[in-house]
Amino acid sequence: MKYNEIKEHDFVLDYDSGFSGEYFDISEPATGKIFGTVRGASIEETKKIISSCKHAQPDWAATTFEYRAAILRRFAQALGHHCEMIHAWNARECGSIRPKSEWELQACIEQAYTAANLAQAPNGELYPSTMPGRKNMRVKVPVGLVGVIAPWNFPLLLSLRAILPALALGNTVVLKPDPQSFFTGGVIISELMAEAGLPENVLRLIPGGAEPGQTIVEHPDTGMIAFTGSTAVGRAIAQQCAGTFKKTSLELGGNNAFIVMADADIESASSCAAWGSFLHQGQICMQSGRHIVHESIADKYVEALAARANQLVTGNPFTEQCHLGPLINAQQAEKVRTLIEESVAMGAEIVTGGTIDTQLVSPTVLKNVSSDMPVFQQEIFGPVAPVVTFKTEQEAIALANDTTLGLSASIHTADSARGEYLATFINAGMVHINDQTVNNEYHIPFGGLKDSGDSGRIGGPVNLDEFTHTKWISVMNQGVQYPF
Ligand code: NAD
Repeated sequence: MKYNEIKEHDFVLDYDSGFSGEYFDISEPATGKIFGTVRGASIEETKKIISSCKHAQPDWAATTFEYRAAILRRFAQALGHHCEMIHAWNARECGSIRPKSEWELQACIEQAYTAANLAQAPNGELYPSTMPGRKNMRVKVPVGLVGVIAPWNFPLLLSLRAILPALALGNTVVLKPDPQSFFTGGVIISELMAEAGLPENVLRLIPGGAEPGQTIVEHPDTGMIAFTGSTAVGRAIAQQCAGTFKKTSLELGGNNAFIVMADADIESASSCAAWGSFLHQGQICMQSGRHIVHESIADKYVEALAARANQLVTGNPFTEQCHLGPLINAQQAEKVRTLIEESVAMGAEIVTGGTIDTQLVSPTVLKNVSSDMPVFQQEIFGPVAPVVTFKTEQEAIALANDTTLGLSASIHTADSARGEYLATFINAGMVHINDQTVNNEYHIPFGGLKDSGDSGRIGGPVNLDEFTHTKWISVMNQGVQYPF
């Protein structure tokens, strides 16, 4: 590895990116410690890398599927082999507790094997023709160079869910992870891909923030942008890509409804609620962010959820066993404080939690919430569960749809058939009955509606279309004679 071992307590980063752009810190959110700095790529350096990767793409696409699959399988093995190092980075750089990091790593290993199989999937179809003697083929060809821009919350997974299928299908990739998770979502991937035998310039890592990100989006040599992150940045990327008709895969924010009907099992609903709202400190796009609960059971539900919240331990996931680690940065902790304070000023009541110690936020349950409060209107990305009540099914659906976002939702009811029926009225890309909103099975197409994305899907069989272009090739055995 080109960097030293973060497992040492008094770790000081020793890493030279080789670039000459702006410096950014590599830090530990749980302690505020800065391990060192990394130099980002300048605009000129970013353009140079894009050119090299564009140049390398035809040779990579011309390799056999067995060759590409073998590299992806070796990469999967390398992830497993380096698991302790990966967990240490995920805890220290991103504030991930061990079970979250373990789930994330295993999902990446499985996806690497899935992508290896994707390399041998049928890459086209035959169609009949109105012209006698003509063979019509739909051929799926690589897009070319894919720019992958990823966030910090599940850094390994959200980079790899695009990189792996893109590579399997013959694309080259430039990867720009978030600077806050540069090692977990960037350096580790690029180093282990090299260890697995990926040829030069098939995947290149670009360090830095918005500036190199913009260059990747704007550059004519990137044929596709696979972006996961905020709706604001995703919208700007969509607008820029529309100008050149560049392909996009945009996975954006969420503000997800968690509906509890009058006949729901409160034990199970409150367990799902605690998981959906507090896992990874609520920093998940699919977080159960708005609890919409029938008024007849709201008191019992709030009591059960608060009891679960009170049992959770907040701490430093690298040095102690805890359920919740720190929020990623001070601004995010401040944003959560403001959302709570403004909502309390409008009449919300803190049932439990509400304490913020630097970046450690205690799991918080709010009641007497109304739909005009900031905590209901905005994506929280912190461990806060706001509860609103409803009287009728129609009201519950209206509350669930009272958002510009549409990623995930869930409905708790003893009548699962009714739940399935109600799911059809919820404007979200994913709806789970009697479960919580944070669900990701890598073999199932994933994505949102409304401002949660560009309506594309990622994962499973759709990757075959997502990371390729369609080409119609027709063949006549001999030349055709037309009337003139
Ligand atoms: P962000 O949009 O600020 O940053 C995401 C990435 O984009 C980073 O790598 C960042 O450096 C880069 N970036 C920032 N400005 C850019 C620009 N102008 N051009 C190009 N790249 C730019 O995201 P964030 O706020 O740090 O991440 C959290 C958000 O991501 C939340 O809204 C969350 O819901 C969303 N998210 C969505 C999913 C999903 O699958 N739908 C998954 C995880 C996170």
